[in-house]
Amino acid sequence: MERVITNVRLLDEEGLWNVGIQSGSIAAMTRQPLMGQDYLHGNGRLLTPGLVETHLHLDKALTQNRVSWEQERPKGTAYRRFQEELTAALKRSFTEDDIICRATKVCQMAVAAGTTMMRGQGEVDALLGLDAIRALLKVKERVRDYLDLQIIAFPLGNFLEEPGLLDLVREALALGADGVGGVPEIVPEEVDAYLDPLFRLAAEFGGVVDVHVDQPQDERLFSFPIMVEKARTYGLEGRVTGAHANSLWFQPPERVVPVLETMRETGVHLSCLPYGHIKERIQVPKAMGVHVSLINDNVQDPWQRGGCGDLIQIGMIYARTGAVRSDAGLREAFDMLSVEGAAALGVTDYGTKPGARADLLLFNADTIQDVISQAIGPEAVLKRGRVVAQDGRMCFGTSSR
Ligand SMILES: [Zn+2]
Repeated sequence: MERVITNVRLLDEEGLWNVGIQSGSIAAMTRQPLMGQDYLHGNGRLLTPGLVETHLHLDKALTQNRVSWEQERPKGTAYRRFQEELTAALKRSFTEDDIICRATKVCQMAVAAGTTMMRGQGEVDALLGLDAIRALLKVKERVRDYLDLQIIAFPLGNFLEEPGLLDLVREALALGADGVGGVPEIVPEEVDAYLDPLFRLAAEFGGVVDVHVDQPQDERLFSFPIMVEKARTYGLEGRVTGAHANSLWFQPPERVVPVLETMRETGVHLSCLPYGHIKERIQVPKAMGVHVSLINDNVQDPWQRGGCGDLIQIGMIYARTGAVRSDAGLREAFDMLSVEGAAALGVTDYGTKPGARADLLLFNADTIQDVISQAIGPEAVLKRGRVVAQDGRMCFGTSSR
């Protein structure tokens, strides 16, 4: 073996194991000794798969110091509208180099905290054009040795009235973006017409759909049934994600449950922040077999002051705000930071099993429940078998040690 990780504990297995790595993948897992060119001694530590971030706004990340936080929202201006205005003002200061620099840094912060795969959002609009997408595609190349990155082209604006915007999304896909984003609530009466061209473009380019579903409390508006129907129409089963999912809590359960069943059948996933309405948005869908991942969403930008891209912290916030205390509940929290996200990203060679990519974490913790409930970060982060971060700091691909 090129590398052997010795004497580690695994989730759901008894005893100590040795893990052999060849060409960046797990080639062997055994209780017997393995011969290797290089050894990483686990000394009884807990070995898990790397974490998967399914939703982070990379282009806006780490801009909080440019925001005047004392500005008051004018009376009568909706929260979302106010935040959008703050963001638009901020975006005028963005350059390609600036986006590359901040996005790379937030990727490194996430990796140092255990993330090995990520889906990032980059906005496409009249102001930025394709600048953010071009920048993030460069970041994708720059970080590839320590992070697998998917880029979503997120159109900000109503392309039903601004057709040039849809042309930009098409161009973004042609440049190499992995999928399309969106926010159907901006046209609450025309969700079908809004989603249709996005699904069509994703199907045409072999990409994914990953849209925000933040609908206001209006029972007429429920995007998920339309997303299920479009996934079937365009053959995008398993390649559709809805972020935030607020509509799941104010719709009546008798309307939600049948839709969740069809979401499970068609592989329409959810990515959720662990704030508010945890039962309806996260736990009920998860219990019904829908893939649900927990996300950072915004990190130090006008939408979220603070945050550091650390998924384990998000797991702890979920456990605390959701009063999740059982072993099974905390284990499920870890799954929503790892295997559930891998499913949403369409990654199949994932996990601690022979054949999986050797994206692995070593924890100096007794149990995965301790990891989540105490927010214990990984001691080592391995990307395709190579140690890229130790004790919360990058040790590969950066000079910021
Ligand atoms: Zn978002």
